[in-house]
Amino acid sequence: MTDPRDAAGLLPVPRHPPGPRRARGPGAALRAAADLLWPADCGGCANPGTAWCGSCARTLAAAPLELRLADGTPLRAAAAHTGPARELLLEVKERRRAELRPVVAAALAGAVRALPPPSPPGAPVLLVPVPARRASRRARGGDLVADLAARAAHAERAAGRPTAVVRALRVRRRVADQTLLGARGRRDNVAGAFAVRGPVPAAPCVVVDDVVTTTATATEAVRALRAAGAAVRGVVCLTAAAPPGAPAAPGAAGADPAVAARHTWAERGCGD
Ligand SMILES: [Zn+2]
Repeated sequence: MTDPRDAAGLLPVPRHPPGPRRARGPGAALRAAADLLWPADCGGCANPGTAWCGSCARTLAAAPLELRLADGTPLRAAAAHTGPARELLLEVKERRRAELRPVVAAALAGAVRALPPPSPPGAPVLLVPVPARRASRRARGGDLVADLAARAAHAERAAGRPTAVVRALRVRRRVADQTLLGARGRRDNVAGAFAVRGPVPAAPCVVVDDVVTTTATATEAVRALRAAGAAVRGVVCLTAAAPPGAPAAPGAAGADPAVAARHTWAERGCGD
């Protein structure tokens, strides 16, 4: 999925009077198209005049959070699921603001580079997006995570880092919307839900998702790849959120940054 906008990163955008922040309903598609040309406001803080302001960009410029799944798989999140990063994700997912996808893709690429180095050093990076449910694809006009992975790979290749996307996972049975379930329900919902399709990836894989909360989905993706014989280097996401009852989200307001650096709340988890 090449896009001439990728190499340039965030689109240069003209200024335009701000519009309503969260238009929905029948006009949402037209609204999304208009946002390509005239962004209403910043996707992180809603300030008018630019799609992604310098202040919000700085919140994503910090080093990715270093986490682990309960099985020890490295997990890197560009940011905690709070503040501008959370708003950015919601704007991209729920408001379908396509002009913000390069911002998310760049953050995902940074998270990939923060994983432990591949073995052997210099091996190509293979991004494997978590597959979307059919309902999600319908709601978002396609497979959002696959598109973000493709954009991240494109940006990495443009920077001289060999990176490819392999859509190696498929949803093999019906699963419910994770956001409607509790931690245990999420784990049960996705247990055994993914399978590898096509040839088993030959290079170590990096699983890509947009947000990780209770880790159930990421854990299932890693499990399916390994069960098929693939090697998995780690998981990356834009934002990571702690499940209810877990310690404060790493990097969230009030969280100790020193603790956030190697937080393992995911060990409690299940989930998304
Ligand atoms: Zn902003």
